[in-house]
Parts: sequence; C-alpha cells; structure tokens
Amino acid sequence: MRAEARIDLDRIAANINLLKGPTRTPLMAVVKADAYGHGLVEVGLAAEKSGADWLGVALLEEAIKLRTHGVRAPILAWLVPPGSDFKQAVAHDIDIAVASIAAFKEISTLPNKPRIHIEFDTGMSRGGFLDEWNEFLKSDFSKVHVIGVFSHFARADEPEEQQNVDQLKRFNEMVTDLADIGINPEIKHLSNSAATLKNSAAHFDLVRTGISLYGLTPDLKHLGDSKALGLAPAMQLRAKLHLVKSVAAHTPVGYGATAHTDKQTKLGVVAMGYADGIPRVAQGAGVFVDGVRAPIIGRVSMDQFVVDLGPGSQAKSGDWVIVFGDGTRGEYTADDWGAASGSINYEIVTRIGPRVPRIYAPHVY
Ligand SMILES: *Cc1c(COP(=O)(O)O)cnc(C)c1O
Repeated sequence: MRAEARIDLDRIAANINLLKGPTRTPLMAVVKADAYGHGLVEVGLAAEKSGADWLGVALLEEAIKLRTHGVRAPILAWLVPPGSDFKQAVAHDIDIAVASIAAFKEISTLPNKPRIHIEFDTGMSRGGFLDEWNEFLKSDFSKVHVIGVFSHFARADEPEEQQNVDQLKRFNEMVTDLADIGINPEIKHLSNSAATLKNSAAHFDLVRTGISLYGLTPDLKHLGDSKALGLAPAMQLRAKLHLVKSVAAHTPVGYGATAHTDKQTKLGVVAMGYADGIPRVAQGAGVFVDGVRAPIIGRVSMDQFVVDLGPGSQAKSGDWVIVFGDGTRGEYTADDWGAASGSINYEIVTRIGPRVPRIYAPHVY
C-alpha cells in the first residue's frame, strides 16, 4: 500500500459524546459526502452505535445506502429535488426535506403519508422556502406527516454576527406561521457544528453536526482549532515515500520548475497527488517524517508531490510519512492544508479521493 486514510471511530464516538454535552442534546450525525471523506457506511453505523440519534445526508442515494447497510436510526435527506425517486424514500423509511411546492406536490401524492421536514430559508438564500412560503402555507398537508422543520445558518462560525440573531428570529416566525395553520412539528432543528458549539439558544430539539463529528473545527479563526474545542480529529492521512534522493543547490523541482532547492538537500517523493485529493495549489503544507515537518517543494502532480526533507534527514525510500493528523506530534493538520490551499479543512478531508483506502484503526506514529 502506498497511501491510507486511518479513521479512528473511537474518536468519532468521543466527539459525539462531547457534542451532546451534559444536557444530552439529541444529535444528528451529518454523514453526507461519504461522511466528509471518512466513509459513509462505517461512520454511519459507528455514529448510531455511539449515541447519534439521527443521521443526516444530502442525497437520497446516501440515505438508501445507509438503510441497506443496516442503519435503523431515523435518516433525513435534504437535497432531494423534484423528479427524485420519492417512492424509494418512503420504501426505505427516509425522511425527506421539502423546500419547494413542486417537490411537495410530488411527495404528497404518494401513499402512506411520507415523512417530511419543511426547510425554511431564514436568510442564507440557499435551501428552503422563501418566496413560495405564503402560497405553500395554503397546501393540503393531510397526505404527509410533518415530522420536522429546519433551517441552516450562514454565519454560525462567526457567533457575534447579527445575521445569527436575525435568522433565529425568522426561524421562530416561520414556526409560528405553521402553528397558525395547525401544524406543530415534533422536531425543530437549526444548528450546524458551529451553532452546536457556540449558540445553545439555537439547539431546539436536535443539532446537526458534521465537521465537529470528525473532530475538526468549523472555523479556525473564530472558534479556534480542534484542541481548543476539545475535539479529536478522526482522520490521519499517511503516504509512503516512493523515493528519497540527494540533489544539489539550485536544482529545479517539478512541473514548470516553479521551485528550486536553496541548498544541497534531500528530496522525498510522496506517493500521493491531486488525484488523491492533495490540492494542486497547496503551498506551505507538507509531511511529517523522521520527527520533523518537510514542506512541499514545487507543484503537486497527479499522483505524487515532492517535499524538502533537509540535508540531514534520515528518511528512506519506502518510509511512511504523515500528510496530516491531529497535530499533537508536530505534524500538519487538515486545518494547515486548508490554509495552504486557500480553502478549509472541510474541503481537504471531503476530497480525499476514492483510491485512498480508508482503514478503520487507531492513528500510528
Ligand atoms: C452540511 C450540513 C450540516 C453540517 O454542517 P457542519 O458545519 O459540518 O456541522 C448541517 N445541516 C445542513 C443542512 C448541512 O447541509
């Protein structure tokens, strides 16, 4: 094997426990996008076993896959546009988020009272009812079971922003609009990870945690890193050094010769590239090897990238290196890789490619 993503499911369990807190807030483990790259089925089953009350996904296919692999907890799918196979959703006992009259019309023609969650646009201008709201309120709700209502914060990772207050207010207004027509759903939910950690006034009956479940911070700048939040990063990404070689000073490295060695040094060729989710633009991250950080030098290629090991490195061809981990030994983190590529930890872990095996085991050093 030349690369692996080691996923410590015990850390996910610990994160669930922390996020539920002393009040044991009901929690939806958000496992969309292959559980943010950590493995949909493995994480889904582990989360359920570790106290997650609900599972949440974007796609109907993701929800069905969870069901067919034995998840019994309630599952909500929220990116299910008109024309989707709503029958399959009902057959697999999957709750569907409804955000348009068109989708509602299709769903409410099905037998057996489909379970729905009405999604409100409270200010993000993404999912949820906005302009159709007043017309939607005139619908016939007798053919569906309205289990929940929900919305999503645009700026929960900036807890001081007025928009959080405004969205919470709008949420309560839309709940009242429904109550006025006799609809009082059992489950109201609004909080993502950041609001779960920083805005207990928005917890309602269920919190929807994604990034924090995986032990990563929703926002490094405003909320601090994993350690500051008490979260345990679940993924450790490792790769092998395909090759170690000595080169002279001023040697060009990689496509476009965008970098040159500044001294006589050893280079390590890491057996991972942008096909595996290593951002091509990354500069300023690298790997952890032989007890030190070795930074990327030159451009990342499709299957490999080169690091400057330094002249005294003892690293050898075939050694394992840590691309990112929890940072406790000095290794780079998913936060570092996000910063190094003009992105965020979410994108780093989610884009780890399918040809990197996921190994469900403790991290190794
Ligand atoms: C992705 C997503 C979440 C989880 O967000 P995190 O910031 O990862 O906790 C919650 N709710 C909805 C609707 C989402 O799309």
